[in-house]
Amino acid sequence: MTPQILFIILISILIIDFIIDKYIDYLNSKCFKNTIPKELEDVYNKKEYLKSQAYKKENYRFSLLTSTFSMLVTLAFFLFKGFAYIDQVARNISSNEIVITLLFFGVIIIGNDIITMPFSFYQNFVIEEKYGFNKSTKQLFFIDKLKGLFLTVLVGGGILVLIVWFYQKTGDDFWIYTWLFMGVFTIFITLFYSSLIVPLFNKQTPLEEGELQQAIKNFADNVGFTLNNIFVIDGSKRSTKANAYFSGFGAKKRIVLYDTLINDLSTNEIVAVLAHEVGHYKKKHVFINMVLSLLLTGITLYILSLFIDNIILSKALSVSEPSFHIGLIAFGILYSPVSEITGIIMNYISRKFEYQADNYAKNHFNGTDLITSLKKLSKNSLSNLTPHKATVFVHYSHPTLLQRIVNLQK
Ligand SMILES: [Zn+2]
Repeated sequence: MTPQILFIILISILIIDFIIDKYIDYLNSKCFKNTIPKELEDVYNKKEYLKSQAYKKENYRFSLLTSTFSMLVTLAFFLFKGFAYIDQVARNISSNEIVITLLFFGVIIIGNDIITMPFSFYQNFVIEEKYGFNKSTKQLFFIDKLKGLFLTVLVGGGILVLIVWFYQKTGDDFWIYTWLFMGVFTIFITLFYSSLIVPLFNKQTPLEEGELQQAIKNFADNVGFTLNNIFVIDGSKRSTKANAYFSGFGAKKRIVLYDTLINDLSTNEIVAVLAHEVGHYKKKHVFINMVLSLLLTGITLYILSLFIDNIILSKALSVSEPSFHIGLIAFGILYSPVSEITGIIMNYISRKFEYQADNYAKNHFNGTDLITSLKKLSKNSLSNLTPHKATVFVHYSHPTLLQRIVNLQK
């Protein structure tokens, strides 16, 4: 294969992927007006329903605009040899491969951040603001961005240094060492996410004693689930949207409730949401997901190791000197149809797991409270009640509200 042909293949993958994605979004937008199924008639009143439709339409148009813009920038980057240019700039600054790799990805990631910042600012302070979701201040928004950047540089940069170092020391075997490292790193992050990362952005306080704490404890005792860490997180400082999640495992496991969730739901509804989360834990979903994603990482790294040395990858991007970082960019695009498919499979598995967790909550607590809590959560985030099948198939990690309710009512 010549570099020119590979270049055309890369561009084609980018364009075809974009077109398929936009077509699915278009199909979904055609369903915004569909009649609400009778199981969901009580989610919105007339006024809220019109508001939710306006919200969906506005988000659809905005995402079409931003993704088209990103696509055009990416294409321009390919056509005008942007990667070769940044590679050259980095090589003029240093002759150390690790430093060059860091500079190369640093410019791309920070550049991308700066270009997309106006869009995320607009999303937050115009769209989310208009529908009453945004609670963040402009100051908090920029502080968040800076902290995010700091984390990317520290964690992303550290991982990158290590991978390039493995590559320099062990050649094609670098994938095994990288994989082992990713395994250890994943377990470490799962264990310490709540105590190291979350405090950078939010305050977590132990749930105070009272009716809710007692209800949660009763449920945990009933199902034989040791639960010493229940925390409330101040999600309300950024958004009115509510959530609850599990993190860590073993003695480190904790349940985190958004303060917004506590405001919106009744005690029983919150316990039902927790029962669903406990279901994920009891059914070993957390563990299975970790093993599956590590397996996928291993396979991807192995395939990467077969391609990374190939000089055609670099030449396709007009870089004469082959390098790890240029190979990684070309491989990333070549591999994207595969990761698209594995993403769909992972979403399919995730939706199965959601049904299992719902069933667990129904069998060990009750389904009715879970149904009303899901309805409230959908209403408060102006969720789409009538998504297109293709959107659900490709993008949804959870079944639709209708599917979940039908399953819970069985
Ligand atoms: Zn779930």
